Amino acid sequence: MCTESRRPEGAESPFEAGAREIRAGRRTVVAGAAAAAAGLVFSTDAVAGAATSGGRAVAKPSTRTRVYVLVIDGCRPAEISPLLTPNLHALKSGGLNLPRARSLPIMETIPNHVMMMSGVRPDRTGVPANSVYDRAEKVVRDLDRPTDLKAVTVIERLRKAGFRTGTVLSKDYLYGIFGTRAGQRWEPAPLLPITNHAPDLFTMQAALAMLQDYDPHLMFVNLGDIDRFGHADLTGTTLQVARRLALADTDVQVGRFVQAVKDAGHWDDAVVCVLADHSMDWSLPNRFVSLSPVFAADPLLAGNVVIADNGGADLCYWTGPAAQRDAAVQRMIALATPVDGVLAAYDRRDLSLRLGANAGEVVVYCHAGWRFSDPSSTSNPIPGNHGHPATAPIPFFLGGGHRRVPKGRASVRQAFTFDVAAIVADAFGMSTIQYEGRSHLA
Ligand SMILES: [Zn+2]
Repeated sequence: MCTESRRPEGAESPFEAGAREIRAGRRTVVAGAAAAAAGLVFSTDAVAGAATSGGRAVAKPSTRTRVYVLVIDGCRPAEISPLLTPNLHALKSGGLNLPRARSLPIMETIPNHVMMMSGVRPDRTGVPANSVYDRAEKVVRDLDRPTDLKAVTVIERLRKAGFRTGTVLSKDYLYGIFGTRAGQRWEPAPLLPITNHAPDLFTMQAALAMLQDYDPHLMFVNLGDIDRFGHADLTGTTLQVARRLALADTDVQVGRFVQAVKDAGHWDDAVVCVLADHSMDWSLPNRFVSLSPVFAADPLLAGNVVIADNGGADLCYWTGPAAQRDAAVQRMIALATPVDGVLAAYDRRDLSLRLGANAGEVVVYCHAGWRFSDPSSTSNPIPGNHGHPATAPIPFFLGGGHRRVPKGRASVRQAFTFDVAAIVADAFGMSTIQYEGRSHLA
């Protein structure tokens, strides 16, 4: 679940925090001609230092290479089609398609955007889900603070080497967690109430202005409409029209971007990396799992478990005595597993999950067609959800005229969201050895 902010009422949003910093003079607000014409505000701060090569043949900041990462938030692979999304389809069929691509646990927005830019799993990024239980603050909250991200992003690596970097992120919590890492940041506006995201039309306006005014070597763009309309879609069919409109509109925005890259003369040097952060699944109103009452009825667990609901995944945190932790983990798994709608419950320390201690003790996934609603049965009424394995398959393809983008091919290799950092670093001739993902460039 991610259509509502977990921020306590009255607390400052990352957007408001940014605005306050600007007013206080701690950030420089800059607007080039295109941004000013569109009424947009970008923020920037200290200019990057000199390039460092480490002895490798790293591209110089004067390189013509450009990498544009466009995230079509919540898009399903089958939704890319010649009729509905012709611009996305053209990128996919003209470049390198990665049909075996998957989102990584937890299949939510913030952790997968973080994995894209850091190239490593959540046990190293510190960001396993959108929503976690913060043990220090004793509150369930979104991971939307710059300090929540513990890994070094490829944005920072490039910037340190003197390249121009930009982020255009439509959701306030993404803007929040990436903070001031990029040299140029768009502060998403106008934010729609409830969803806290800026519509793709405005997001693309900002991306085009940034392209024109600052010409970043790396631009990281999140287009949130497909996801936001997906959450509202009652079954994936009843409001299918809204979803299809969002897909068609997002495709138009992507088409505008491709045209602008061509108009700016960058196409032959561009890697256009398009992917979703996760897919989308829909549940009927009565198809929800609520684990809080199940745990509350157990003598060991009652009052000693906090759940962070992530739509298709519940993260369960033991808050009782440390000595009873192992027994509590076994009890949570035993109680959650047989509940209707539950796919599986795992000890978070299961090596395949790689979620890190921030994800609590037990991770529970739901089946396709279900959702979690915790702490109460009314907590999550939203039909469209992700976070569970059913929402792992994602569209992922590389377009652009850069000589290292394979043309008109499909890869048999698996691909993951954390491959993006390796692709970006590889395009600029930087080492990819620190990344768990792989570059798919030729
Ligand atoms: Zn998302």
